[in-house]
Amino acid sequence: MTNVRTRIAPSPTGDPHVGTAYIALFNRCFARQHGGEFILRIEDTDQARSTDKSEQDILNSLRWLGLDWDEGPGCEGDCGPYRQSERADIYREHIKVLLDKGHAFPCFCTSQRLDELRAEQMANKQQLGYDGHCTNLSVEEVRSRIAAGEEHVIRMQVPETGECEFDDMLRGSVSIAWSQIDMQVLIKSDGLPTYHFANVVDDHLMGITHVIRGEEWINSVPKHVLLYQYFDWQAPVFCHMPLLRNPDKSKLSKRKNPTSINYYRDMGYLPQALTNYLGMMGWTMPDGEEKFSLQQMQEAFDITRVSLGGPIFDIEKLDWLNGKYIREDLSDEEFVAEFAKWAFQEHKVARIIPLLKQRVERFSDVAELAQPFVSGVIPLNAETFAHKKLDAPMLLKILQFSLWRLEESAGFGRDQVESVLQELATQLDLKIRDFLFPLFVAMSGKAVAASVIETISVLGLDITRARLRNALDVLGGISKKQAKNLEKEYRQLN
Ligand code: GLU
Repeated sequence: MTNVRTRIAPSPTGDPHVGTAYIALFNRCFARQHGGEFILRIEDTDQARSTDKSEQDILNSLRWLGLDWDEGPGCEGDCGPYRQSERADIYREHIKVLLDKGHAFPCFCTSQRLDELRAEQMANKQQLGYDGHCTNLSVEEVRSRIAAGEEHVIRMQVPETGECEFDDMLRGSVSIAWSQIDMQVLIKSDGLPTYHFANVVDDHLMGITHVIRGEEWINSVPKHVLLYQYFDWQAPVFCHMPLLRNPDKSKLSKRKNPTSINYYRDMGYLPQALTNYLGMMGWTMPDGEEKFSLQQMQEAFDITRVSLGGPIFDIEKLDWLNGKYIREDLSDEEFVAEFAKWAFQEHKVARIIPLLKQRVERFSDVAELAQPFVSGVIPLNAETFAHKKLDAPMLLKILQFSLWRLEESAGFGRDQVESVLQELATQLDLKIRDFLFPLFVAMSGKAVAASVIETISVLGLDITRARLRNALDVLGGISKKQAKNLEKEYRQLN
C-alpha cells in the first residue's frame, strides 16, 4: 500500500463533540497500524458559524484524549496551511480548472427563483434540486454578467442518468443514481468554497489515501467522486463509520446525552477511559477484552472488524469502565495527583477561593462550600425549591428559559452570565433575587450558597446544563406539550 494518510476534518462550530473524537480515534488507529500519518484539518469555510474558541476546544480535547496528530495546526507539515480559511487562493486556482474544462458553471439564479423552483418541485412531487437553468447561458452572456459584477455562485455539472458506483471499506459496493445528486454549489457568492469542494481539493493536495468519516456523508460521495474525475485525480478509499447513538437508538444528540468532550473532562472522567470507551463503539478487540489502551487498540486494529450496527454511547457503561480505570490503574499516589489536577485547576481555583473565603470561619467549612464546584450532578430535593413567590410552573419556566439563554450566550464570563440572567429576569417581570432562587438550588442543592452567577460562570455550560436538566427532572420534568408551549413563549420574550 502507498503511504497511508488519514485525516479528521472538523468544522469549528460549537462544542468539541465526542463523535469527532470517535472518528479521529479510528483514523489515527488506521494510520498508525499502516505506519502512516494522521492529519488534522480545520474546515472553517462557514465563516458565520466558525469560532476560534471552538477550534481551540477541539484541538485541546483531542490532545487531552491522546489523539494528537502528525500534521495540522500547531504541527505544520508539507501540506499546510491546515485551516481552510487560509487556503482561499488554492480553491480559487482549482475552480478555474473546472470552469475552463466546462465541469463547473456560474449560476446567477436568485434565491427567489430557487425558492419558487423548490416549491414547484415539491408541489409536483419531483426530486428537489437545481434544474440546470444557468447551464444554457451563452459564453458572452456569462462574461458580460460577471463583468457587470452580478452576484453568482459556481455549481458543478452532474450527469443526468446512470448510477455512481463506489466501494466503501465497510459496505462493499454502493451505488447511488445520478438523478438524486444535485448540481452542488462549489463556490458561494462570497467567493468561498463549500464543504464539498474544499474537502475534495484538500484531501487530494494533502495526499489523503483513506477517507474514514461518519456515515452521514455517504450520500455526498458521488459529488466527491465526480470532482476527482473532473480533476483527473485518483480518489481515496472511502470508509463510512456507523454513527453513535443514544441508548434509545436515536442519533447521539445533546438533547438526550452530553456530547461535549468538555463535559466528560469537567465531570472528572479519565481521558484514557473515554478514549477506550470510544474504541468500543462498533469495534471489539480480537480477544474480546473491553479494557484496552490506545496503544493496544492500534496494535490490534483491523478496520474490517468495525460492525455497522449503530453503536450505543451509554454513559452507564462509560462510568463502569472509568471506575475500572480508577481502581485498577491508579495507585493511591496517582489517584491523589490526578484528583488534585482535576479539582484544583488553576483558573478555577483562582475564582473559587475568593468566593469561599468570604464565607468560611474555619477550614473545616471549606468542603461543604466547595461542594458545588467539585461535584457532577448534585442530588436534589423537590421541597428545597419551595418559594413563596414562585409556583411550580414558574420554577420550571425559570430553569428551562435560563438554560436556553445560557446555551445562546456568546460566552460564560461572569458579566456575560450576569447580563443574560438579569435580562431574562426583567423579561419575566421578576426581582432578580426571586428569579435566581431556583438556579441557586439547582446549582448547589441548597437555598443558600456562594453566588450562583459565579458558580455558573466557573463551571461552564456543560455542567450547568446537566444540573439544570436534573433540577427540571426532580421537579417532575417537562412534557412534550409543555416544552412546545414554553418554547413558543420563550420566542416571544422581549
Ligand atoms: N467538516 C466535515 C465535518 O464537520 C468533514 C466531513 C468529512 O470528513 O469529510 O464533519
